[in-house]
Amino acid sequence: MTIARSPDILPLAAPLQDGIGRRFEYLRLSLTEVCNFRCTYCLPDGYRKPCNRPVELSVDEIRRAVTAFAQLGLWKVRLTGGEPSLRRDFEDVARAVAAVSGIRRVAVTTNGYRLAQRAQAWRDAGISAINVSVDSLDPARFAAITGHDRLAEVLRGIEAAQAAGFDAIKLNAVLMRGVNDDELAAMVDFVRARDLSLRFIEVMRTNDNAAFFRDRHIAGQSVIDRLEAAGWHRLPRAPGAGPAVELGHPDAKGRIGIIAPYAKDFCASCNRLRLSSDGRLHLCLFGDGGSDLRPLLSTDDPQPLIAHIRGLVATKAPAHRLHDGNSGATPHLASIGG
Ligand code: SAM
Repeated sequence: MTIARSPDILPLAAPLQDGIGRRFEYLRLSLTEVCNFRCTYCLPDGYRKPCNRPVELSVDEIRRAVTAFAQLGLWKVRLTGGEPSLRRDFEDVARAVAAVSGIRRVAVTTNGYRLAQRAQAWRDAGISAINVSVDSLDPARFAAITGHDRLAEVLRGIEAAQAAGFDAIKLNAVLMRGVNDDELAAMVDFVRARDLSLRFIEVMRTNDNAAFFRDRHIAGQSVIDRLEAAGWHRLPRAPGAGPAVELGHPDAKGRIGIIAPYAKDFCASCNRLRLSSDGRLHLCLFGDGGSDLRPLLSTDDPQPLIAHIRGLVATKAPAHRLHDGNSGATPHLASIGG
């Protein structure tokens, strides 16, 4: 879908597209692979620092990268990780990204552990949308899933984000058989009564979680079926929207989205690229090790980087190979930004 843009934010280069005509508007930027939570599906033993821990991009390198992507027509950036707010310069990064010409939306995905204290500061730094991971509304379960007894604190953070006036607040919940699949109705009621949206995410298989995936994966379609039976209806895809299926209900302020990467045609609407915290461009969450952009991030001239990104994106595979049991080189989503 074409996005109407005012002349001052037209991309300076021809818009970025791959070999099958998919356009890219959305950059997911990992700020760190470090996370303080120990989610059972991602980092069950906690983050372990590897001996050759990658060096994170500096604020200047991030600004240069985002400038090149913006000139290629990307206008939305999500700060993610790991836990992005663990970076001491997190708010400086947010401000630098928000100031890049052409960037119209800066979002963050967080586990919410700092949100109650920092919501207003993040909003003031230019972040306008926030996704908070809440896999259970039951405190004991939340603690069992994340390794942290902090549900109340995270919920206070969500209230602080509402008070700070973010344009959009979403709760992310990973669906897990036998763990939280009995909470569907409670979660839907939680967002129905509040001006919040909910994202159910199918647990994705990565290199490190094959057994967990086998035991816990639930197809998102089963949730869609249950919601449709309860009066929720599918919404048309919004401009710039990614592959999530969105549903609305006449009595609900918020929406529900389902991210189902195993569903047929999931990749057809892919509109996103990922940059890891050490500057590797990943064309797919389930792809190879990515391509190092760092050597091109030392100067303020974006042209060599733009040409390089264009060449890489032209090679993007039409679809992931999850159905062949191939989840690519990603050990866990914290490593490249989920
Ligand atoms: N630390 C932040 C957080 O907790 O939201 C951001 C990073 S986290 C990797 C981003 C999102 O990916 C979270 O909503 C998390 O639940 C989700 N996630 C991580 N591993 C996943 C997996 N294997 N399958 C599905 N979702 C996953």
